[in-house]
Amino acid sequence: MESAIIDLDGTVYRSQTVIPGAREGIELLRDAGVDIVFVTNSSTKTRETCQERLASLGIEASVDDILTSASVTATYVSREYPTATVSTIGSTALDQEFAHTDTKLTADPAEADVLVVGKDRSFDFQTLTHGLRAIESGATFIGTNEDRKVPTDTGTIPGCGALLAAIGYAADRDPDQICGKPHDPMIEVSLDRLGTDPADCMVIGDNPETDIEMGRRAGLTTVLVLTGLVDRTDRRLEAEPADHVVDSLEALSSLL
Ligand SMILES: [Mg+2]
Repeated sequence: MESAIIDLDGTVYRSQTVIPGAREGIELLRDAGVDIVFVTNSSTKTRETCQERLASLGIEASVDDILTSASVTATYVSREYPTATVSTIGSTALDQEFAHTDTKLTADPAEADVLVVGKDRSFDFQTLTHGLRAIESGATFIGTNEDRKVPTDTGTIPGCGALLAAIGYAADRDPDQICGKPHDPMIEVSLDRLGTDPADCMVIGDNPETDIEMGRRAGLTTVLVLTGLVDRTDRRLEAEPADHVVDSLEALSSLL
């Protein structure tokens, strides 16, 4: 294997804590000459924040080695709609990613050719109205990711998918494109970044519905790690959810 796409939450770290074996597994891959990009469906953390968290856990990565659903969405939109005026709903991290591109942004929904929706923790009636009006004005409707809910240290919170659903329901329209895992933009931008052929690349993650599904769609070798969503007792394991199932990243040695 020439390269690997590695999920962050539940695979490398959980909140501020490194997952046992993750550091060792990443070292093992790098020693074997495997190129790595780290991916996350988060649209509220900047790549710099992810880089700092990795560094604080003893894992070196450059900002370019990290892809978030926000950064992938900015790359995708600027590539597919280079002349479009874009209106965003989401976090400052999302706007920061668009600031790295040449995209023209507007706060006026009636002016938007493209509406981009990421997770917005201050989402309210006004935000919903903004989204509805952009779509009514003919904007293409793009979501960073469609995670339904997200576990946190203090309990479950709604994911970006819940906000997309609210806007989509009001506008009676499904999003035209979702950019995060398991959808095409995330895998396309990842493979571009690695400059690799899908046959020489593996995807490693803890989520069968996003990480593993993305790898399967693109023809990558898939590796499910049992450090996050799925453990040994999970019934999903009976259905052979991935090419390989390992207890932690450290167990990747058996696959190299
Ligand atoms: Mg994960």
